[in-house]
Amino acid sequence: MLVDRRYLFIGGEWVAPASTARINVINAATEASLGSVPEASFADVDRAVTAARNAFDGGWSTSGASERAAALARFADALEKRSPEIVRAVSAQNGMPLSLSEQFEGGYAVALARYYGSLAAEMRVEDRRRSPLGFDTLVRRDPIGVVGAIVPWNYPVVLCLTKLAPALAAGCTIVIKPSPGTVIDAFLLADAAEEAGLPKGVVNWVPGDRDVGQYLVTHKGIDKVAFTGSTAAGRWIGETCGRMLRPVSLELGGKSAAIILDDADLTTVVQGLHFASLANNGQTCAACTRILAPEGRYPEVVDALRTMVSALVVGDPLDHATQVGPLASSAHRDRVEAYIAKGRADGARVVIGGGRPKQQARGWFVSPTVFADVDNRSTIAREEIFGPVLAVIPYRDDDDAVAIANDSDFGLGGTVWSKDAGRATQIARRVATGTIGVNGYVIDFAAPFGGVKQSGLGREFGPEALSAYQQLKSIYLPG
Ligand code: NAD
Repeated sequence: MLVDRRYLFIGGEWVAPASTARINVINAATEASLGSVPEASFADVDRAVTAARNAFDGGWSTSGASERAAALARFADALEKRSPEIVRAVSAQNGMPLSLSEQFEGGYAVALARYYGSLAAEMRVEDRRRSPLGFDTLVRRDPIGVVGAIVPWNYPVVLCLTKLAPALAAGCTIVIKPSPGTVIDAFLLADAAEEAGLPKGVVNWVPGDRDVGQYLVTHKGIDKVAFTGSTAAGRWIGETCGRMLRPVSLELGGKSAAIILDDADLTTVVQGLHFASLANNGQTCAACTRILAPEGRYPEVVDALRTMVSALVVGDPLDHATQVGPLASSAHRDRVEAYIAKGRADGARVVIGGGRPKQQARGWFVSPTVFADVDNRSTIAREEIFGPVLAVIPYRDDDDAVAIANDSDFGLGGTVWSKDAGRATQIARRVATGTIGVNGYVIDFAAPFGGVKQSGLGREFGPEALSAYQQLKSIYLPG
């Protein structure tokens, strides 16, 4: 049945949108319509920001830890109830294989809400410190205010929760702008917020395109911007927030390296790279898309990757057996295909893939592709492709591997592979990146996640994320 939503979730209620504009949602695998939802206009953003401000001033910012913890726990339960519907909606919209969607957009998102609920329960808002000057000072962590959150389409539910959950735990209220590419899930999240009885206005959704995002970023009623998306958009948002002196966190793009050390077991490596490099059809910010192979084992590594990729099941993301689905939009497929053409033109060798899978008559599919003989200075090694395209780059020794890994404008993820985990960990310490895995890449939501260089500013996840939604205040007590 086609989705046909008529109202926006603002101020704890389903309200008629200010305009008649609609977002049409398309199934990435079939190109059929999934239905439509209202598109928020600037007037709706105004209403949402006012509702969030009223909720902030009206009690949420001063609510007790137990109230916030209970609200997040109820939200997690309501989300879990809807998980089967949410994960199917995400997979149909952006092509994410269902098994991955169940793991992340389902289980992981619910776990995030529960985790920040438990942190809210334990949170110390105020410390009394003895000053070396001989008096006491109260150091407070106050909620920063109304948050404007902007979310991309690749992991829309998890990336909404990475903002919503710590923001609410800290006592902030939030206005969330989902990407027009993945909006059905946002309405299901709003259903969960309503069922959980979150106080009116604490969470609001304004689905829309870039103009709505820009309006939210610059809105005078917002106290902090939390953005996940491309480096290009992040740069504009960072500049804008800089001019306004508005706190901002930016989770941006990546071009991460998988360093395969000379003693690595290639069976383990390619099994791990299936997820670390190709999860969500390569539409993953931290994907290890540069594969660094030791010169002495280069043909062996290329061969192992060819074998792994040739066995991947490409197909309908809603089929549990599928390992690689379509890309999220036709425009995005054009972009990925342009990179493949550029790789060829620059002299890299296509080992496997390089076109569209023949068995898929419809849908925005690109065959998983491996390029060998890639120069780290070439476009396909430097720019984020955001599709199932890997570049295998040879290196001489460990120092050379680290130098190539670090010769990038980005620094978000990474992996090091070796039979000797200690040796791999030593290499991992030398890679300029925000996160890196040894013999695997699993994002731990209890530890900070984020990027260096053009991969972003600030961190999400872990208790550290709470500080992005807090303002420190010192109350001196000299008298
Ligand atoms: P995008 O930047 O085009 O859009 C992201 C969101 O921002 C969308 O909701 C979009 O409507 C909005 N937007 C775009 N330009 C804007 C602007 N100038 N002002 C305000 N809002 C704006 O990115 P995308 O194509 O949706 O997502 C893919 C990108 O996101 C990739 O580069 C990927 O690496 C990155 N990403 C990063 C992380 C991370 O944690 N670092 C996680 C997931 C995705």
